Amino acid sequence: MLADPDRVVVELPETSFLIDPAIGREVAGRKKGEAPALVSGFRFGQFARGRSRIVFDLSGPARIVKAVAEPTASGGAARLVVELAQTQAESFRAAARAARAAQLQKAPAREEPATATEVAAKPLVVIDAGHGGVDMGAVGAKSVYEKDIVLDVARRLAAKLATGDRVRTLLTRDSDEFVPLGDRVKIARKANAALLVSIHADMLNEASVHGATVYTVSDRASDAEAARVAASENAADKAGGMAESEEIGDVHDILFDLTRRETRAIGHQFATSLIDFWKAAGDLNKNPIRSAGFVVLKAPDVPSVLLELGYLSNERDLAKLGSEHWRQSAADRVAQAVERYFARRTAGVERIAPERSAELAIVR
Ligand SMILES: [Zn+2]
Repeated sequence: MLADPDRVVVELPETSFLIDPAIGREVAGRKKGEAPALVSGFRFGQFARGRSRIVFDLSGPARIVKAVAEPTASGGAARLVVELAQTQAESFRAAARAARAAQLQKAPAREEPATATEVAAKPLVVIDAGHGGVDMGAVGAKSVYEKDIVLDVARRLAAKLATGDRVRTLLTRDSDEFVPLGDRVKIARKANAALLVSIHADMLNEASVHGATVYTVSDRASDAEAARVAASENAADKAGGMAESEEIGDVHDILFDLTRRETRAIGHQFATSLIDFWKAAGDLNKNPIRSAGFVVLKAPDVPSVLLELGYLSNERDLAKLGSEHWRQSAADRVAQAVERYFARRTAGVERIAPERSAELAIVR
């Protein structure tokens, strides 16, 4: 049981779901006049290596009456039965707290890449494909999933940058796997990344809005739309069935603040450069550079930007996002922007003073 939003999460060993992922979304579309179902929707998929999850979104407080795997008549397969009943809000919350406490006790540590022990000659770019596994991200018409599109663009970007040979790259995920937002930030920090590019695609009720947008991190959102996108992207952990997202930035230290300010300024410069390259061939949102409190961009020492490639809710954008040719040219444009950015940095522009990086290691 997880609260805020209220969910029931079923933990499974790694499972191949031979079920159309769209099926869980139809629960919400019940007929008028019917009593509200306890479950408003559900998702399923890989959560981590060797682990899968089914996440049920609740429309009201529920208790588990029964959760059992029953053998089927044909043998072999088993049938998982989870029976829910309505309950009081307070008893649901108590159950959620107890479940959280039990989970914290037995949670295995996630595998993380080894820390770079020596200063590498080439800067490292972390390419972060949004969502994955049990968290589908935005879902467009004809069951087009944000998680699949952004992984493909991320892989193409890494391949393109490999041919340029100016930077090294690291993907936060290279499969249909759920990775919590906090872990994405940790991966970038542990590997001493010089840049993090998080790739997403957006979804709106308004079908006419289109084009790419680049976001940077800020304490206060640049506008209401940026605040909406950040809230929606920050909900990824909840979609994946996590209890709460991990926040970095509770440290109030003057050095920390200085470094963070500098990191954000560099991130903003890269965002501007990315917009320039995108402008040449791609479609931009009418207000293409915005900022808000994106959890995945909160590394205080890794300049980070989030690129929304376009809108799954817009017909033209959806056609582009579905086209391999378009995805390749999108990846090429981002690669060009990354390469120009590092060409300028090695020329001595936009560099964090080395003594400050050293002191930051202590803050970490
Ligand atoms: Zn997203």
